[in-house]
Order: sequence, then C-alpha cells, then structure tokens
Amino acid sequence: MKQDVKSKIATHQAGLRPATRPVELVGMDEEELVSLCGQMGEPPYRGRQIFSWLYAHGVSEFSQMTNIPKGFRAKLGEAARLEALELDRESKSADGTEKYVWRLRDGARVESVRIPMRNVNGVMRWSLCISTQVGCAMGCAFCLTAKMGFIRQLTAGEIVGQFLAARRLLARGERFHNVVFMGMGEPLDNFGATVKAVRILTHPRANGVSAKRLTVSTVGIVSRLRDFVSAVPGVGLAVSLHAADDETRGKLVPVNRKWNLRALIDECRELPVGERRRITFEYVMLRGVNDSKRDAKELSKLLEGLKCKVNLMPWNPFPGTPFERPGDERVEEFRRILLAAGLVATTRTAKGVDILAACGQLADSSRLDGPGGLKQLNPL
Ligand code: SAH
Repeated sequence: MKQDVKSKIATHQAGLRPATRPVELVGMDEEELVSLCGQMGEPPYRGRQIFSWLYAHGVSEFSQMTNIPKGFRAKLGEAARLEALELDRESKSADGTEKYVWRLRDGARVESVRIPMRNVNGVMRWSLCISTQVGCAMGCAFCLTAKMGFIRQLTAGEIVGQFLAARRLLARGERFHNVVFMGMGEPLDNFGATVKAVRILTHPRANGVSAKRLTVSTVGIVSRLRDFVSAVPGVGLAVSLHAADDETRGKLVPVNRKWNLRALIDECRELPVGERRRITFEYVMLRGVNDSKRDAKELSKLLEGLKCKVNLMPWNPFPGTPFERPGDERVEEFRRILLAAGLVATTRTAKGVDILAACGQLADSSRLDGPGGLKQLNPL
C-alpha cells in the first residue's frame, strides 16, 4: 500500500504522465496519511489533521478541511480523492429500518442497513450493518447473498466509507451506537481490509464506535479466527453455527466440510476473547431442518462449558429456496431448552424484512438470475 501511494505521488510530481488513478484517502490509517503528507513535503501533524477530517468529521470535500492551507488542499485535491461510494438507492421499512445501496467506483453495488433498536429502557438507538465483499464465496444454502456468488473484495476504504456515508444521513445529534459486520460477504475471507476497517472505526480519534460495540460475524474460517481476535482485541465476535451436527451443518454451511464442528468449537474454546467477552453463536432456524428438540439438546451439549451466547435467528425468507421459517412457539421452545441447559440464549427479531434488508436478504438484484425469478425479487 505504502509503495503504491509513493509511486503514484512520485509519478504525479515528476509530471511524467498524469496520475490515472488518484490516491484513495478514505481507508488510509494515520500512519499512511502521515507518510503521504511527508512525501508531499508536509509535516507529520498534517497527516493527523487529515485523519481527523476524514473520520471524526467525515468531510466529503477538501474545502471543508479548514485548518489545512489552501495551497496544500489544492495539491491534495489533484492527487487524491475522498469518497469511494455514492448512494444509489435507499428504501425504508415500515419498522424504521433503512437500506442503502451504494455504487462503487467500478459500478459494483453493496448494501448497508441502519436498524433502530430499543435498549432496555426503551431508548431508541441506531445500529449499522455493513458489508465486506461484493457477493460472497461461502455458498451458505439459506442466504440470498450467496446466490450472487463472489464478485470482489471491498477495500478498507469501501468498508469504512459505508459507515461515513451512512453517518452523514443521520439526523443532527444522532450517532451509530453499534456497528455490525453482518452485511454482504465473509469478513474473514477479506481479512486485511476488514482488520484495517475495524481499526480505523474503533480508533479513539475517529469518532466511530467503541470496540465493544462493534461485532464481526464470521461463517467460521477456523484458520483465521485466532489471528483475527488478536488483531482487533475487544471487538465482538459472532460465529455462524446453524447446526449442532456435521451432517446438517455440512449441507447448510459448506465451509463445514473443510473445518468440521469439532475443529470450530475446539478453536472457539481456545480463543483469547478476553475475560468479559462472550462469543456469540448465531443459529438460523429452519423449519424441519435444525429446529427440533433433539437439535436443541445437541446444541446445548456441543456448547457445554463454553462462555458464549446463542442468538437464534428465525430464517428470513426469500423465494426460490426450499426453506421455511419455523413458528414462534417452536423457536421459543428451542430457546427454553438452551436456557434450561444453562446457556444464554436470545432470539433476534428480524428488522426490515419487507424491504429485503434483514440478515441474509442482501443482494444486488441485477446479479441474481437463479431459478424462481430471483431477478424480480428485490423490491427496490
Ligand atoms: N458471512 C458472515 C456474515 C453473514 S450475515 C457470516 O457467515 O456470519 C449475518 C448472519 O445472517 C449469519 O449468521 C448468516 O448465516 C445469517 N443469515 C444468512 N441468511 C439468512 C436468512 N435468510 N435468514 C436469517 N439469517 C440469515
């Protein structure tokens, strides 16, 4: 990255040929900004000022960087760019959830969802769900994003950019209380960009979100879990479990054929998540597939003694799949079995289902051409 920036600036300054692709500022960390300023003949504190303009203030134009001298602003404006995504479409659910479709520089689209959540005192707070890839390569059977296949990785700038752009759409005085990496894509399959984005968002001077209010959800890429937890200590980790036996999980989550439940759970038991943190295990509930009393008992056994929390997520529907959502009573019965076994278990209320903004319902409709007329599916 640094080399890349250096050579672009050098080419630009030497006037050999116009820089074809300006440097993307959003997604650079403080060190990179300091070094970029150094290469442009500016002192290190300029880099720190730019860091603050980008992330704490979230400016969208160079002219807003009022403590940067005009001359340098102009130079920066020639060599670098600010925003990597623009709002393509937005839709609003009856429950207050909003979905944003962003268009990236190459025309690809990704989605973020802002979700109103009430805390125990009934106070409304916003959560933001962001994407880490265009599409996804994991192929989970019950997930709409999987139907798109994998298109490309997002850069750290495109991940952080979703937060910055969504924050600009908040009303004055509002902020995002929680940020979850639960949109399109598998974060640990885009390791470097995800780690960088998390570090920027949780940087004390970025005015983003605290580590304890940021959660990354992974399908469970066992070989990267430990490195991830060490790279961003204190950040919440959610692991998509979805079944308590290898046969069922292998059908639902293909990655289970590479790392089976034993490998996954053994690794989770060893993860240095910190004293006060619990791993969240997500469990999508599919009627007749993984929602029986026996499944609940097997799950309790599998997680015995592990400091964790189970989050039951009744499946959010989309057409063209054989899956069905179980009834509320079945979900509650399942949850009671887990509680009786001493586990912490909650049920996630789906938000934004009517605008296909709930978990596993995010996809670029133009990339869906599977059976069942999926192309027509997106209500946008
Ligand atoms: N790749 C990450 C993030 C995926 S989205 C992961 O696998 O964890 C966040 C959660 O929603 C995951 O647990 C995912 O399995 C779940 N999910 C996917 N499709 C769903 C659907 N249609 N209904 C409910 N949950 C779904």
